[in-house]
Amino acid sequence: MANMGTNNSHADVVIIGAGAVGAATACELARRGASVTVLEAGDAVGNGCSYANAGLLAPSHVEPLTTPANVLDGLRYMFAPDSPFHVHPNPKLLPWFLQFAAASTPRRARAMTARLQELAEHSLQLHAAYADDGMDTGYRHSGSMDVFLTEQHYEQTRETFDDGAGAPGGGTHQPGADSGQTRLLTADETRTLEPALGTVAGAIHRPAEAICGSQEFVAATLKTAEQHGATIHWGTHVRQLDAGATRITGVSTNRGRFTGDEYVVAAGLESDRLCGNVGVRMPLQGAKGYVVDLEVTGEVPEIPMLFKELKVVATPYPDRLRLSGTLELGGDPRELNQRRIQAIRDAGDRGLPRLNISRTIQTWAGQRPCTSDGVPVIGRSTKRPNLTVTAGHGMWGLTLGPVTGELVARGLLEAAPTLHEAAFSPDRFSRS
Ligand SMILES: Cc1cc2nc3c(=O)[nH]c(=O)nc-3n(C[C@H](O)[C@H](O)[C@H](O)COP(=O)(O)OP(=O)(O)OC[C@H]3O[C@@H](n4cnc5c(N)ncnc54)[C@H](O)[C@@H]3O)c2cc1C
Repeated sequence: MANMGTNNSHADVVIIGAGAVGAATACELARRGASVTVLEAGDAVGNGCSYANAGLLAPSHVEPLTTPANVLDGLRYMFAPDSPFHVHPNPKLLPWFLQFAAASTPRRARAMTARLQELAEHSLQLHAAYADDGMDTGYRHSGSMDVFLTEQHYEQTRETFDDGAGAPGGGTHQPGADSGQTRLLTADETRTLEPALGTVAGAIHRPAEAICGSQEFVAATLKTAEQHGATIHWGTHVRQLDAGATRITGVSTNRGRFTGDEYVVAAGLESDRLCGNVGVRMPLQGAKGYVVDLEVTGEVPEIPMLFKELKVVATPYPDRLRLSGTLELGGDPRELNQRRIQAIRDAGDRGLPRLNISRTIQTWAGQRPCTSDGVPVIGRSTKRPNLTVTAGHGMWGLTLGPVTGELVARGLLEAAPTLHEAAFSPDRFSRS
């Protein structure tokens, strides 16, 4: 049982939240010698969105959620019960969605995609380095594939490749020279590379990309943080940040009060409430996604793959095949919509027809924390000079966890200007 009443240990940095982002931040800070206290409401790893995800470390896919295509998809699929992207017509969502639509300009989408992919590339290297250092994150240099089931989509993609623009959805991503080049594969080449697939039109193969385990990543980064002196307080729910005229003076929890020189809010969807209480407004919405874990035999794939038209990812882990997908805004976060779950399973059946499914291990839905401008918050507040926020990583918190931790650690410990990028600033919503 952790301390009740006042907690006297004072840390260099107090981190609120031990999901993928908070755990990686704790790891990067502790490895650089900071004394770190992590406060986590859950009793164990994976209390929030980092409980499960597709596990892709895929810089080529990282982009802001705010793209013109996503706005169109949201409107197009609004009334489709089994669509992969769904916006519930919920009046409470309207202000958030209007900001989202306003941020979805082609120019901004291009600029933010380039910057996020640059960060994701670096983060992928950090993931690999963690594995080299012996951290058991479940990392596997698997490569990844975008699989096209229809000729129409394949042909559209081929034209983009032939234009020399590179992989669509891949933006500026260029894999490292020693990792093999991203290639567009014909149907035969695709099935030769991945014989578990059924009928396909072709694929993009990205040998540089990788996967890791969601909970394994959190557990391993926290373990490393602890080995470097960090203290993790499980079952410790932060009720509020306490603030003086400008600075944060402590945090009040169900297990007493904790203090530090610096405070990092990495509380996923709750970051909104915690920061809002001290005047740092941050519109976050949960974008629901589903995970279906299957115990399988038969022809099981080796390479994680995105079925492009169906927007479903199949990730092979040693003990399961994970199917994941759907982005649902504005609905009931607790509801497990059976039609969407069935659509995900059907995508797996269609793409990987020779699988034998012995049982469903679990079906789960999580809320990706998404900002109204589609880009994460990674920065120091100018209003509260000892408050840093790392939240709203949306679809890509696992991929971007290490680089986020590094940006925070370098900003706080080396005074590097890594926490002052206007596009990621926590103050940007107050300004708008
Ligand atoms: C279906 C699906 C597939 C995905 N696939 C991928 C993928 O392939 N690759 C990828 O990079 N990302 C993927 N993601 C996204 C990724 O999982 C998220 O971006 C990431 O988990 C967010 O991590 P986080 O640490 O910001 O938030 P969370 O994991 O939600 O962590 C926040 C933590 O803060 C704690 N907390 C909250 N409030 C308090 C409080 N008041 N006091 C103390 N603790 C508090 C919570 O208990 C929680 O543990 C996927 C997500 C889903 C749902």
